[in-house]
Amino acid sequence: MMDITALDLSKFNYSKNVLLKEISTFKIGGVIKYFFQPKSQLELINIIHLLDEHHIQFHLIGRASNILFADEMKTEAVISTLSVKNVSRSNNEITVDAGYSLRELCYFCSENDLTGLEGLSGIPGTVGGAVYMNAGAYGYTISDYLKEVTVFHRKYNKIITYNKEECEFDYRKSCFMDNKQIILEIKLNLKKRNKQQIINEMKRYEVKRSQKQPLNYPSAGSVFKKPSQVFHPALEIELLGLKGCTIGGACVSTKHSGFIINKKDATAIDVKKLVSHLQKLILKKTGIFLETEIEYFE
Ligand SMILES: Cc1cc2nc3c(=O)[nH]c(=O)nc-3n(C[C@H](O)[C@H](O)[C@H](O)COP(=O)(O)OP(=O)(O)OC[C@H]3O[C@@H](n4cnc5c(N)ncnc54)[C@H](O)[C@@H]3O)c2cc1C
Repeated sequence: MMDITALDLSKFNYSKNVLLKEISTFKIGGVIKYFFQPKSQLELINIIHLLDEHHIQFHLIGRASNILFADEMKTEAVISTLSVKNVSRSNNEITVDAGYSLRELCYFCSENDLTGLEGLSGIPGTVGGAVYMNAGAYGYTISDYLKEVTVFHRKYNKIITYNKEECEFDYRKSCFMDNKQIILEIKLNLKKRNKQQIINEMKRYEVKRSQKQPLNYPSAGSVFKKPSQVFHPALEIELLGLKGCTIGGACVSTKHSGFIINKKDATAIDVKKLVSHLQKLILKKTGIFLETEIEYFE
């Protein structure tokens, strides 16, 4: 393994010693030595290829809205896709880069009288992050109208396009969670609908979301995956009287008990302790171990 300091990084857009709490929606995370912000798919591929070639570990992120970063990072590099954000339309088909904001994509679709994403407009992530975990809300998922996903295959050093079936989408699941390939862009094939109707529906879901979720505090959304359609982690947490349960600066939201909020200067350790506390009590009561939806990057 080569030391990252020995690499020629002059072609790339990056900053040194970036505080990750300023990047993640949780507002938690220590310093990362190298923070790459490629401006194109090609630059993204070139960085990844270089780091892989020298066996240098990195984390890939979009908006970091589903991630808990460690207080002290072991990894030396994070690559953000946020500046890889082209979008184009041809008839009912939209081709969009991984770093494009999901919210902006929903509004882009409405501008083009295209329906199919309305329920997703309040999810604060990128297209790549949404496809990675098949994000969804209010009966919509990103995979509903998805036609294909183009990835950079790290092992073969090749660009490959998957059709929808090959992506193995399921509830908060895709094949990209296992194979760790890099989503570059996707194609959606949407349906026509009146623009105002689309906007009204998106606004309705956004209002619903703001009524139910603690959007005035930093968080990473729902902490736990639903283990089945009938098991609601938030309800179980509430039934156990754990709303408002606090460890350090991390607190179970009183508005939505599926969320842990960063109430005041929470550390990753506070959140991890609170997550384990909830997991233990729920396991004891129900016999079910709740897996986290949010990912821990260290
Ligand atoms: C207030 C709030 C509300 C939320 N509501 C919802 C909701 O209703 N439904 C829902 O599903 N989620 C929700 N989330 C969680 C989160 O916004 C989604 O999971 C979102 O899709 C994550 O996208 P991201 O760009 O932030 O990904 P990140 O958090 O940056 O990354 C998440 C994972 O995706 C991987 N990844 C990111 N980009 C790529 C890429 N280009 N190629 C391969 N892998 C990639 C990362 O490596 C990481 O493993 C919410 C979060 C918050 C803070």
